[in-house]
Amino acid sequence: MSESMPALGANQQFCRSCGKIISSLAPACPRCGAPTGLRAVPAGASPKSRLAAVLLCFFLGWFGAHRFYVGKIWTGLLQLITLGIFGIWTLVDFILIIVGSFKDSEGRPVVVWTD
Ligand SMILES: [Zn+2]
Repeated sequence: MSESMPALGANQQFCRSCGKIISSLAPACPRCGAPTGLRAVPAGASPKSRLAAVLLCFFLGWFGAHRFYVGKIWTGLLQLITLGIFGIWTLVDFILIIVGSFKDSEGRPVVVWTD
């Protein structure tokens, strides 16, 4: 690697097609139009599927399934033992997932709907 790349800002990424520095939130390069990835996962966002988290929370939320899914094993177990504190905790999680404020085990928001 003799060629040094310019440093990226916190919310920037390289276009995979033309190499231009673009916003990490852009689903496609504004210059050449190339999609920025197979999955449009913004930098800093969880790679986990929001759709899967919603479905798991809805059907198995009392058992903490959505927390196990995003890697939150310990709070998942706690939710399992307490049955989501009789559904209230699970309901709060469900709302958080819907509005995009639910975080994975590394603190990244679960916001990407596709898998
Ligand atoms: Zn480009």
